[in-house]
Amino acid sequence: MADSTNPPPLLIGVDVGGTKIAGVVVETPPPGTDGEPRVLAEATRPARKGADALIDDVVALVGTLTDALPADAHVCAIGIGTPGTVDEATGNVRDIANLAIDQVPLASAVHARCGLPTSVENDVNAAAVGAARLVEDGDTADETIAFLNLGTGLAAGIIRDGVLDRGSSNTVGEIGHIPVEPHRWRCACGQHGCLETAGSGGAAKRLWPYADPPMPDILATAADATRTRHRQAVETRDTIIAAIADAIDVLAVTVDPEAIIIGGGMAKTGEPLLDAIRAELRRRAHASGFITSLQLPSRLRLAPTALPVGAIGAALAAAERTPSR
Ligand SMILES: [Zn+2]
Repeated sequence: MADSTNPPPLLIGVDVGGTKIAGVVVETPPPGTDGEPRVLAEATRPARKGADALIDDVVALVGTLTDALPADAHVCAIGIGTPGTVDEATGNVRDIANLAIDQVPLASAVHARCGLPTSVENDVNAAAVGAARLVEDGDTADETIAFLNLGTGLAAGIIRDGVLDRGSSNTVGEIGHIPVEPHRWRCACGQHGCLETAGSGGAAKRLWPYADPPMPDILATAADATRTRHRQAVETRDTIIAAIADAIDVLAVTVDPEAIIIGGGMAKTGEPLLDAIRAELRRRAHASGFITSLQLPSRLRLAPTALPVGAIGAALAAAERTPSR
């Protein structure tokens, strides 16, 4: 139970995207207790290219968020989720392609200018922490959860027994680069047939340039035989959904999570996307007693689309690293 004379410390979470930077102030329930994190303030600003611009933009966003709080509010840490290769120990980030950044000492630069402990997390890992806490009603202390991000690419964040799994070199969850997709399209990573060349938002845009976002239109056109491009839509849907189902199979047999949460831009398609994935999983189960025993359709969840899951998760991930908590 919260002590009213000692209000819980607040956390700032920042989610760096290719086009915008989102921030939140979050009040979390004390560690070890249930309950959803509460968002006290939200702000966004456009993302600009370059390391100096990114640092300036994050610092300005933190300023906007703290200005929105009462004078006696106590922010104890900043957590940042970002694309690129993140060294969590130092908070340095390399290769943020969308922002044309080779490297940036993000944690130390933001810490120096804001005066708050600052940690940096891979964006999919941060979203995994946020989605797990929001979807599982706060009770994730000892759960194993996979977050499958269907954004520009395809990647997963893994929480084992309540803790983010980074592996030995931060490669855990990069299942979008498992090269088993039958069309053998070339991937940005240099391989052919990576799952993300078919099962991602970026792939859907490439395969279906007729609508933006493509996925709702693909599903609607595939479901209606009277529409033009119906056959093409069926083929495109089946290609995309098969790659997503492959990714889910991989997560099931390597992580065996209680829940697989679908997130990222494509998750905004909502229930029709979940229905299509579940139909494919059932079709596979029909032919396999083993796959039937995994009960995959009942493990699928949709990440909340109305909340800034990535920024909330970045704040929660910072809480795990802050010794004062
Ligand atoms: Zn690849």
